[in-house]
Amino acid sequence: MISSRILEQLPFKCEEGLGLALASDDDGAVMVFHWCNKPFFQVIGLDETDVIGHRATIFVGPEMDQGVHLLTIDKLMRWEHFSVKVRLTKKNGEPVWVTMTWTPLTDPENGNRWWLCSLIELQSHPERSKKVLDFRNQSSANDLVTQYTEQIAHLESENGRLRSIAKAVTRDSNEDPLTGLSNRRHFEAKVSFWISALRKRGTAFAILYIDLDRFKTINDTLGHEAGDGLLVAVASMLKRITLNSDLVARLGGDEFVILRPLGESALEISGLADKIIREMSRPFECDGKSISCGASVGVAIADKNAKNPEDVVGDADTALYHAKSTGRARWSFFTAEMHAQSVAIRHLAAELLVACERKEFVPYFQPLVDASTGRITGVEVLVRWSHPTRGLMPPKDFLDVAAQMGIVAEIDAILFSRLSEAVTYLDTAHTEVPRFAINVSAGRLSDSALLHDIKVSGIDPKRLTVEILESVYLERNHDATSWTLEELREFGVEVAVDDFGTGHASVQGLLQIKPDVLKIDRQFVQPAAESKRARALVESLIGIGKSLGLKVVAEGVESEAQAQLARDLGCDILQGFYFGKPMAEPDLFKVLNDTKGCLWRPTSKIQQSELSINILR
Ligand code: C2E
Ligand code: CA
Ligand code: CA
Repeated sequence: MISSRILEQLPFKCEEGLGLALASDDDGAVMVFHWCNKPFFQVIGLDETDVIGHRATIFVGPEMDQGVHLLTIDKLMRWEHFSVKVRLTKKNGEPVWVTMTWTPLTDPENGNRWWLCSLIELQSHPERSKKVLDFRNQSSANDLVTQYTEQIAHLESENGRLRSIAKAVTRDSNEDPLTGLSNRRHFEAKVSFWISALRKRGTAFAILYIDLDRFKTINDTLGHEAGDGLLVAVASMLKRITLNSDLVARLGGDEFVILRPLGESALEISGLADKIIREMSRPFECDGKSISCGASVGVAIADKNAKNPEDVVGDADTALYHAKSTGRARWSFFTAEMHAQSVAIRHLAAELLVACERKEFVPYFQPLVDASTGRITGVEVLVRWSHPTRGLMPPKDFLDVAAQMGIVAEIDAILFSRLSEAVTYLDTAHTEVPRFAINVSAGRLSDSALLHDIKVSGIDPKRLTVEILESVYLERNHDATSWTLEELREFGVEVAVDDFGTGHASVQGLLQIKPDVLKIDRQFVQPAAESKRARALVESLIGIGKSLGLKVVAEGVESEAQAQLARDLGCDILQGFYFGKPMAEPDLFKVLNDTKGCLWRPTSKIQQSELSINILR
């Protein structure tokens, strides 16, 4: 990596300690030692492993004068050649006075910038005079000496105070105060440094993105102090299992990252990821409490094959997301497929924003049928994205991304305004659609815009049903949600719990939401016609609805057998492809005209006794 031309610039044989450090283009003070001669190690009393791969901070010890330290950094940052007499601390704790000279070099072969650092041990220790700085090869050297000498005098007079301020400033700007790890700022600066090093010299590095699996629950249940204690414990574990040359940072919350320069193979990286998962699966002792947490890790490598090394942190985050979604306490390597997927998601996200602006969402309608008469009781309004090039897109192709972007409520609002237009059209054409059931996301339910939109829509609220997932009650904005539900009821809007049985706190959720309608998910309805166990399960779900005095809807009815069974088990309303798929407004219009609103002719009921016998069998 060090070109022959740079080495040619070194004295052939010399007594003085010489070291070469590769620096960042933007900041001369950011550098890593790549080569040193023997006298160099002897003078500062350090080994090769203490120096190579490390920064100039190897010189900073208790003996170093803080004023000299700050001025040195200043000179390095500006790429200025300078000499300084300075007291260093050897590894064994002994102080040593040296003349340290820094010379900037530019490699003519590739433009890389290097520092040549020369160390000469001073036999007679100089007085701590004001003239510790001595700038050679400077046109205005005398001026500078005067200037810096004055500054040092000033610094020394306020030595203690300045030292602590200087320390705090460098530490605060680079350090996470809770864990003492590097902070996001420092981490980002390091990533930029390594990216430019990769571009110039092909030096690869890896990013490991770590996210604790149950941190939020721990914080909520055991309190913030326990949460902080855990973060500190995790930080010290990460420090313990990493190398000195790794950078370990906390990005905020429960997110940690490791930057590892890669001389090693990818295998070594997977070893580190394994180790993190293993260590995190053990309980941590914090404040006398034993806390189990677990973590997931995403890994991405920036090497010479990387097309966009700038994306490496985002790639590691994508891999982390993948690790989390395939089950926790795992790690994933960023792959080409993930890349393609994340590009597609980003693309879709950008298109969704445009789609919101252009209001490209249209309502489709699926009939709801009265189980005893077969007549239409209403329609469920389902969103479709009328994409300019890809055609009509179902919600499964975009709602997840929209949810991650936090724009589902906006889509719901657009769809509702489209619905108002459709209702006016259908009513004017005397097409009898008694009721419209709209799907409302958690975000929209905690926002007063829903009530406002209903008020100004011109649709009679008594013809509206709001379908919500039982999980909304477990989510944020509990009070706002309760308030909206109360108001909806006041307006005369019916509330339905959607996909019942698939959520978590089923019965408890129901008691809180106090809905009018329960929609039983198709995953329970469909197998019920074939399996007795499934049938018993559906019966008990219907039983819950009936005992609370609710109307029960069977979703996903696809056959006559399923329709009859759902009706016989006590469902009031049926919905499914058997009666009609979701359709555009003109198709709904046609179907209702052709059938005169009767979509099914129910046959006579199975004897109740016969059914009980079947179930008992
Ligand atoms: P959902 O609310 O449970 O809506 C019913 C879904 O089941 C619809 O899918 C419908 O086409 C499908 N379905 C109905 N009958 C059958 C059947 O017999 N067999 C099968 N296999 N499927 C049937 P769709 O339209 O793709 O919507 C999927 C989900 O997207 C909806 O599930 C709902 O959770 C969400 N969604 C749809 N429209 C909106 C909307 O405007 N706003 C919000 N927030 N979510 C919506
Ligand atoms: Ca629904
Ligand atoms: Ca549903």
